[in-house]
Amino acid sequence: MSFTLPHQYNSHDSQEPYLAHQETSPARPLGRPLVGMSTSVPVEVILAAHRCPVDLNNVFINSPNPRALINEAEAMGFPRNMCAWIKGIYATAMAMEGLEAVISVIQGDCSNVLGLSEILGERGIRIIPFEYPPDRDKARLAWQMDKLAETLGAAPTDVIKVKSRLDSIRAKLIRLDELTWRENKVTGFENHMHLVSSSDFNCDPDTFEAELDDFLVQAMAREPLAHRVRLGYVGVPPIITGIYDYLEELGAAVVFNEVQRQFAMPPQSHDIIEQYLKFTYPYDLFGRVHDIGRAVAQRQIHGLIHYTQSFCYRQVHDIIFRERLDLPILTIEGDKFGPLDNRTKMRLEAFVDVLGDQ
Ligand code: SF4
Repeated sequence: MSFTLPHQYNSHDSQEPYLAHQETSPARPLGRPLVGMSTSVPVEVILAAHRCPVDLNNVFINSPNPRALINEAEAMGFPRNMCAWIKGIYATAMAMEGLEAVISVIQGDCSNVLGLSEILGERGIRIIPFEYPPDRDKARLAWQMDKLAETLGAAPTDVIKVKSRLDSIRAKLIRLDELTWRENKVTGFENHMHLVSSSDFNCDPDTFEAELDDFLVQAMAREPLAHRVRLGYVGVPPIITGIYDYLEELGAAVVFNEVQRQFAMPPQSHDIIEQYLKFTYPYDLFGRVHDIGRAVAQRQIHGLIHYTQSFCYRQVHDIIFRERLDLPILTIEGDKFGPLDNRTKMRLEAFVDVLGDQ
């Protein structure tokens, strides 16, 4: 079959979570089995197979106690010098009820996912591998999607129907993004929460859309927020909490959340394969650099916060961002789950002050 013809994360900031809060075992619409994801995958296929997609990153970070999940993985033998997201995903998957399988993105996500898949498999969790072709080869991606659909039992016509259903929700997310950078009516944290959740639509696109509709009505009625500095946030979603709040306190607005926005799949495409080829996150860094550069110009961004995760291979991207992007960049690093530390607060304050003076 072919689709080519007819395409954290983090509610622990000081703001009250306002999206459906996910426990370690999310609610299952119609009692459907849960299919976990190590990162964003063609979610249309999972939904067309009458299963609930679960982004394990989102469930981990929105769980009542993410730090306990990390500790659990370490107690079980995960090394101290391994990314905390991987440990959180492991413990989340192990604790989840109704988890039928995990789709592991072994090419295009994270250098640690292969090892994670092996240990989850060893613990009895069914692993379905998925690869984004590094050369963005359309035929190879189509083959991967066909294989995924066959494995889950999704009919191609249903996948296309689900895509068009999700397109209408994604269009509303793009509207929310515009309300953030163009109309200044949505905060950086609100933007982050909605966009990051679109990797799995909180397992339930209908409820997700209803909540999004309510939020858009409320946001459109607001007066524009005033800020002296406009920032972009690039890199993986933060494991530390309070960044957005603290920047707001300093008078800085985050008007671009790079990876989170990619999960909402802009720009949209009629062809499902094209859509997942335009998704910048799983491919080379230069597509991301291009996307960031365009957003910086369009959104009149004064500086970038590059968030890096301790022990993550993506830290090396900082070199290329600094070489290729012509604006001030502050690189910060998070390790375990927890609040923003004082040293990072001071660095953020100095960065915003310098940009404000300029
Ligand atoms: S932060 Fe880096 S190391 Fe950790 S899961 Fe994400 S890509 Fe992998």
